[in-house]
Amino acid sequence: MTSSTVDVVIAGGGVAGHATAWELSQRDLEVLVVDRQRPGRATSASAGGLWPVGEAVGLGCGVIYQAARTGGEALDQAPESLPDTFRDFLIESHSRFPGLATELQDLTGVDIELDSGPGLLFLMQTIGQQAVVDNIARGLPDGFVLELLSPDDVIELEPAVTTDIVGGALLPGENQLNPMLLAEAYKRAALASGTKLQPDRLVDEILREGDRVVGVRMGEETVHCGHVVNAAGAWAGQLAATAGIQLPVEPIRGQVVLTESLPPVLSSCISTSACYLAQKRHGEILIGSTTEHVGFDTSITEAGIRGLCRGAVTAIPSLADIGVKRTWAGLRPGTPDELPVLGPVAGVTGYSNVTGGFRTGIVAAPLMARVAAQDILGETHDVPIDPYLSSRFDAP
Ligand SMILES: Cc1cc2nc3c(=O)[nH]c(=O)nc-3n(C[C@H](O)[C@H](O)[C@H](O)COP(=O)(O)OP(=O)(O)OC[C@H]3O[C@@H](n4cnc5c(N)ncnc54)[C@H](O)[C@@H]3O)c2cc1C
Repeated sequence: MTSSTVDVVIAGGGVAGHATAWELSQRDLEVLVVDRQRPGRATSASAGGLWPVGEAVGLGCGVIYQAARTGGEALDQAPESLPDTFRDFLIESHSRFPGLATELQDLTGVDIELDSGPGLLFLMQTIGQQAVVDNIARGLPDGFVLELLSPDDVIELEPAVTTDIVGGALLPGENQLNPMLLAEAYKRAALASGTKLQPDRLVDEILREGDRVVGVRMGEETVHCGHVVNAAGAWAGQLAATAGIQLPVEPIRGQVVLTESLPPVLSSCISTSACYLAQKRHGEILIGSTTEHVGFDTSITEAGIRGLCRGAVTAIPSLADIGVKRTWAGLRPGTPDELPVLGPVAGVTGYSNVTGGFRTGIVAAPLMARVAAQDILGETHDVPIDPYLSSRFDAP
């Protein structure tokens, strides 16, 4: 049995873990990230969409989930929206990306491939969808732009889109990046600031003495520390349970299709009630994604992939003849209210969560990590942490 000591151990090296490591190590804390790359880890499976308002009003993944749940693509009722506080959290986090991209590139040489296309364009394919979108547009507070486009406007903006539409809804500035490169850039920036990384190691147990978390155990090795951060993604609930901490994070599977590389086809990110599409920097079109409660099963299914491909070809008919390069499934760290879980847990010292990013864990990452780090350091939070504490799930 070996034993060592650091200030903070972060369990999990996805975007949440590495972003938090960077925040903490810049403030001179000795940080150790322990990561075992498990099949289905979310950051590498992600689409990299930065759609703060789109996801908050349900016109990203939400609309696809709703259409699948209600058994059709019609979308007769408005998709569920996220609370305004979290919409504003996402907008604030999103606003940090241009500066972050430059800072990370200067520090690490990694280009996170932040795209500056026209925005997220929802294709309205029925009159019913138009009514739903009109309602969403009316519900947005002053200052939020959702441009309603005629079919001609849509075709002018995106000539590859089907003409069989009744219009489009454009959220300007809602763009995309490469999520793997974002995590890689955070990782390199953290390492450059002094963070240590133990790759390919599993945290088996969070060690607790009474009301205090004191370290972690990895096989025969223990690391003692002042603070453990649980950033274990879809596995965060299981890991918290090793210290008797309740954390209702569960895996939510998302299947994805990636086409072969193509010349420029799309400048916007497109969403419909059947799928979303984003052309990546090297020309592939990423088609996502299902939202499935199937535990830790990372298989892809014929129905899932067919549904995405059908939706993609309906939206962009020229994709009918295009080859598929890769398909995969990832596990989003889901929570019952679809909001992240940040910060300390009542009755336990030396422990924090930075997880529950669910379907917005990339766009939310900069602010999730900043606020969680500020909390550990006793600094003033950039935005209130209270809505994201795990105590919201405690029985009254
Ligand atoms: C198909 C799909 C599409 C998505 N699209 C978008 C999108 O367009 N925009 C957006 O904002 N978000 C999107 N998301 C959500 C986003 O990707 C996630 O919320 C985010 O990546 C979660 O990051 P994380 O670091 O919390 O988890 P992960 O990336 O899963 O990282 C957790 C890490 O911890 C490791 N680990 C687990 N247990 C242990 C342990 N005990 N010890 C050590 N290591 C451990 C895991 O293997 C993994 O490496 C998408 C997700 C999926 C699956």
